[in-house]
Amino acid sequence: MSRILQHLIAHELDCEVDFAVDLASAKILLEQKEYFVAITDLNLPDAQEGEIVRLVLSKQTPCIVLTGSLDSEQRKQLLQLGIVDYILKENRFSYEYVVRLVRRLQRNIDVKVLIADDSVVSRKFVRSLLEQHLYQVIEADDGHSAWEILQSQPDIQLLITDYNMPGLDGFGLILKVREKFSREELAIIGLSSDSDESLSARFIKNGANDFLQKPFVHEEFHCRVLNTLDSLDMIRKLWDQANLDYLTCVYNRRYFFGLFEEQMEQIKQKQGALTVALLDIDFFKKVNDTYGHDVGDEVLVEFAARLKHFFGQHFTVSRFGGEEFTVAFKGLNQEKAFVLMDKFRSQLEMKPIVTSKGEMFITVSTGIAGLADDSLDGLIQRADKALYDAKKSGRNLVCIEA
Ligand code: GH3
Ligand code: MG
Ligand code: MG
Repeated sequence: MSRILQHLIAHELDCEVDFAVDLASAKILLEQKEYFVAITDLNLPDAQEGEIVRLVLSKQTPCIVLTGSLDSEQRKQLLQLGIVDYILKENRFSYEYVVRLVRRLQRNIDVKVLIADDSVVSRKFVRSLLEQHLYQVIEADDGHSAWEILQSQPDIQLLITDYNMPGLDGFGLILKVREKFSREELAIIGLSSDSDESLSARFIKNGANDFLQKPFVHEEFHCRVLNTLDSLDMIRKLWDQANLDYLTCVYNRRYFFGLFEEQMEQIKQKQGALTVALLDIDFFKKVNDTYGHDVGDEVLVEFAARLKHFFGQHFTVSRFGGEEFTVAFKGLNQEKAFVLMDKFRSQLEMKPIVTSKGEMFITVSTGIAGLADDSLDGLIQRADKALYDAKKSGRNLVCIEA
């Protein structure tokens, strides 16, 4: 079993795996190195009472326990000790479960969770559960401070909030949060020790993703958190598939139109600027014809990465299709966009793209147009006309609409 796991983990998770046959050799390893996680059999030949678990936990190393059987008292004890989880060695799914668990632990390191609860004891308990699974934990002692923390740290992915809190309670907090953060951006789990049965439904109707009645057991808590975060990941994956270009991972045409069609009227009303650059790689067909389609793909990926690196922080980069890309400069007039675009053009020309078939130099032609009293389609058409001028005038040029 250990050999299979060792293989699976090294293979699927790309990490180093050490292997100990008994408590004595585990001890030596644990003294030599710090481990990300330990997966242990409950009983080892030289330690039949689960001593390995205490040893691992004493090193502050997350511990996953494998066991042949477990009665409910043993189970409770193990969970109380603070193990990540236990897995019964039943079938091949047990291995998959372990791999999935380790993968989640790796993911959790980057997941920020905010606990809002006025009870210190309850907060510390939830914190300890979350830390067993390596989440980054932040605490707030009432609704108002939770709201402030959320605004200053928009990368928080999960809010776990109590219902009864002084000042702003759990419902008030959720209502406020949902005005700013959608369910896809931030997941919420409500908690309460109140015996009111309608509370769970009200939490969810107010915008929480899930609800837990206090007191809850260790396992239920982790299952709810995992499910909530897994569905968040899934929704994000779907969003990415719908809005990002599969090859280059910059935004796709659909995202570009969605974003700016929505903002069009607002920009016009405020008399704000919107400049669009349409880029088309020069003689790209030649790259494909000479080196093959795969190398063409490599060039597209690198080209898009450079575009994103150069413009992505402030402006919207998308792939329109084939070897055509756009950069949308919101708040910038055509002249300023031209200066930036021309800088990009000359940097591209100077620095070769490294591919599996060697280095190659490419150039790009660009047309620029600014928002007038027409539609987004009209704007793109005018940029396309300017692009045509750039091609006609010799390529490797940036042209502003005539
Ligand atoms: P010009 O300077 O006039 O733009 O010439 P060009 O060769 O770049 O233009 P053309 O439109 O004739 O050719 C574009 C080529 O881009 C043709 C097509 O096969 C290739 N292409 C489109 N999408 C992809 C892709 O996803 N991967 C690869 N490798 N090639 C693509
Ligand atoms: Mg083209
Ligand atoms: Mg081209």
